[in-house]
Amino acid sequence: MATKNIPPITAKKAWSHFRTITKHKVYVARECFSVGLYRQGLLHDLSKYSPTEFLVGARYYQGTQSPNNKEREVTGVSTAWLHHKGRNLHHYEYWLDYSTRTDGGINGSGIIPCKMPGRYVVEMFLDRVAASKVYRGAAYTDADPWKYYATGNTRRFLYPETADLLEKLLLMLRDEGEEKTYAYIRAHLYQKSLFPRAKKQKGKR
Ligand SMILES: [Zn+2]
Repeated sequence: MATKNIPPITAKKAWSHFRTITKHKVYVARECFSVGLYRQGLLHDLSKYSPTEFLVGARYYQGTQSPNNKEREVTGVSTAWLHHKGRNLHHYEYWLDYSTRTDGGINGSGIIPCKMPGRYVVEMFLDRVAASKVYRGAAYTDADPWKYYATGNTRRFLYPETADLLEKLLLMLRDEGEEKTYAYIRAHLYQKSLFPRAKKQKGKR
């Protein structure tokens, strides 16, 4: 593990990092407000301003990739990310717990995903929408958040119903657009029906 070449924190990098995380917060807040998630919209990723996360972000600021990746490269672990995922309930990594079951459980015993409350699945969905909008800029389309999800292997870390809801929202966005999807979320946010019923969905994939 290399511990040398730790870059210094400079005012310039701290300012750039501040602007990056604040821009993301403003974007996510805008999306959250449009579905009525006001509190989460205001609190989203707030721990990025804590010294533990902010100083690491400023030290490893790149402009092109996440400072967490640079921290991993230099020290072997991202302390900022470990701090972040433990405090922000819209990250599925927050919901990975130990299973006490010996009969296999969902993914066998050991670390297993737990069911996320619907409003945090929605925040995770909107986080992805906001990030796609910033990343794709003028080229953004409603299909981008699904495309990004589909290239990853996130599903295996999600509780099945959590994955079903996230995928349902991503596909609804792709196929029916933002206005309809956000209206659906607003209508179902505080109802159990936000989660798809147990019976198999005949959705298009
Ligand atoms: Zn976050």
